[in-house]
Amino acid sequence: MAGTQFLCFGEYILYKGGNTYSINSCETIEVFYNIRTDLDKLKYASYITKIVNDVTTENQSAYKVMQLFLNTLYMISETDKDLSLINSVFIIRLLSIIGFRPMIEECKNCKAKDDLMYFSFRDSGFKCSTCGKQDKGAMQISPTTKDAIRYIILANAKKIFSFEVPKETIKELEIISKIYLQDKLEKEYKL
Ligand SMILES: [Zn+2]
Repeated sequence: MAGTQFLCFGEYILYKGGNTYSINSCETIEVFYNIRTDLDKLKYASYITKIVNDVTTENQSAYKVMQLFLNTLYMISETDKDLSLINSVFIIRLLSIIGFRPMIEECKNCKAKDDLMYFSFRDSGFKCSTCGKQDKGAMQISPTTKDAIRYIILANAKKIFSFEVPKETIKELEIISKIYLQDKLEKEYKL
């Protein structure tokens, strides 16, 4: 019973009977107990679980997604880091893993490397101030937000949450990740 609870991570031995699998035995590795006793943490954990369910399919190896999922649950469970920030990091990194990595090196339109002040949802990536102004689907972002997005995408998997940003950046990341997710997965997820 314990091994089949929500958010329980473990090693399972299954046997196939007809079209279904049954669990023969299971060794629990992590149960994320702190998430179960905190409604806010539970809300965010449920939200990311729904997304992970949608982007993975049965019998398909999804190591990178699982690693990100577990690291995110660990952050939610074991730290006091801002939950909205954890959520935004998860979404931006997840979308990059599954094939929606935005252009973060140069302006998506003119290839300029400096003055990148906009995030374009339509063209999936940064835009310089000149091109960004002409893109109605682009959002102006602060330099800190730009650096944070780069960090989230480029950092080593174990380090993606190791940064601090001001409240304004947390808000900007929240807006960007929410719209980008909705845009790419063509589905609205409610927290
Ligand atoms: Zn440009």
